[in-house]
Amino acid sequence: MNNTIIVGAGLVGSLLSVYLARAGFKVSVYERFGDPLQGESRSGRSVNITLSTRGFQALDAVGLGDTVRQFCVPAYGRVIHSQDGRTTYQPYGNHQEALYSIRRDDLSKILLDFARSQESIEFYFNHKCLDLDLPTGTLTLQDVVTDRIERIQAEKIFAADGAYSAVRQKMQRLKGFNYSQEYFDQGYKEIVIPPDSQGNWPLDRNALHIWPRDRFMLIGFPNLDKSFTLSLHLPYQGEISHESIDSPQAIENLFKTYFPDIWESVRSNLANYFASPVETMVTIKCFPWSYQDKVALIGDACHAILPSYGQGANAGFEDCQLLARCIQQHLDNWQDAFKAYETARKPDMDAIAHLCVEHFTVLHDAVGNAEFQERNKLERQLQILYPDYAPIYYNIAFTDMSYRKAWEIERSYRNIIDEMLENRFNSATSIALESRQFCTIA
Ligand SMILES: Cc1cc2nc3c(=O)[nH]c(=O)nc-3n(C[C@H](O)[C@H](O)[C@H](O)COP(=O)(O)OP(=O)(O)OC[C@H]3O[C@@H](n4cnc5c(N)ncnc54)[C@H](O)[C@@H]3O)c2cc1C
Repeated sequence: MNNTIIVGAGLVGSLLSVYLARAGFKVSVYERFGDPLQGESRSGRSVNITLSTRGFQALDAVGLGDTVRQFCVPAYGRVIHSQDGRTTYQPYGNHQEALYSIRRDDLSKILLDFARSQESIEFYFNHKCLDLDLPTGTLTLQDVVTDRIERIQAEKIFAADGAYSAVRQKMQRLKGFNYSQEYFDQGYKEIVIPPDSQGNWPLDRNALHIWPRDRFMLIGFPNLDKSFTLSLHLPYQGEISHESIDSPQAIENLFKTYFPDIWESVRSNLANYFASPVETMVTIKCFPWSYQDKVALIGDACHAILPSYGQGANAGFEDCQLLARCIQQHLDNWQDAFKAYETARKPDMDAIAHLCVEHFTVLHDAVGNAEFQERNKLERQLQILYPDYAPIYYNIAFTDMSYRKAWEIERSYRNIIDEMLENRFNSATSIALESRQFCTIA
């Protein structure tokens, strides 16, 4: 098949092109922005991505994992910074499990570089998809440099054009197409802090850093060049909000009051702070994810989620693996392939979308309190005692278990763990675990 088109050369579109090329297809990828390998910058998206097990699994399957790992900084846990400057360390697992922090640009360049080394993949940058005639599979594309418009008929179209997908917008007009979009009530701005005066990381590099402050928070991600990216999450309006933090004095007051331990590193790196827009976060759900045997949506185009679990790109990479598998299994019937892909994946993505909303509250607030820390410790202890059990964070980040299953496990153990915490497990506590065995924790 010679006319397979991917719209969008973001993280997911680039990886999908590799999967499709390996399955024997000739692929053309159309991207509205310029070529990042020519130094043409992209839109203002989050600077960092943390990759976890399921993302790496999809990268490893096409031989990209080790290249990507070289550009990552592993974070083995989170450091919680309280307002009085004390810090607490919470490891992610019992065996040095890590999230891998990488700059989005680095990840994108690695994927593009690799995809372009494949003979059967062609990239067309500065080509924006304006429209799609679904019945004929005809895309209208605009060369944004020359303004030239061209129409291309494709046999198969994969829409990896992100949360505001132009292809999905066309599908939204179809009868029976369901769609929802919900903005989170907070936005974020990023501040990059350079290495310290000795040329070292300004914070412990092998951890993510969180300053939870109830209705708002600051998160720090390590970069390979020894800088840190801080992401300041605030409500849009209100007493402490993006609206109220509108001057150098206001941001200084905010940091000195709530994040005093990091102010000295931040103060000289606020030059772009007020010029940069507040970035939004959105949950997008839709269904179906395909049109006949012609079009399939993938990545954020069909399931944008909040970044609290750091799963959006990981999930998009997992989509690529699943979609490629479904295509292989139904080579003679693409409609069946698309149906198998979307029905297998949709319930998982609905589950993680829900969990991400819940987890934002945990990050803002609970992560810093004693009860959460106790729960965290207990869950890790239980994991040692009962290897069949793992906390939800672990199952999401460090396994390839379906998101739905991870949520089911969490729900079935939630009451037992609540009860154990209530008893403060200071005496022998009998608990019924899923297997209905009664176990005694001394
Ligand atoms: C603050 C924040 C932090 C995050 N952190 C993490 C994290 O730690 N870990 C993680 O796994 N995920 C994270 N994510 C989610 C992750 O960024 C997304 O899930 C991921 O980028 C989705 O990839 P995508 O290729 O589907 O979409 P995108 O990355 O949005 O790429 C879409 C591409 O399509 C192009 N495009 C759009 N419209 C058109 C058009 N009309 N014509 C042609 N091209 C078009 C765009 O220019 C872009 O290149 C985070 C997101 C946010 C907002």
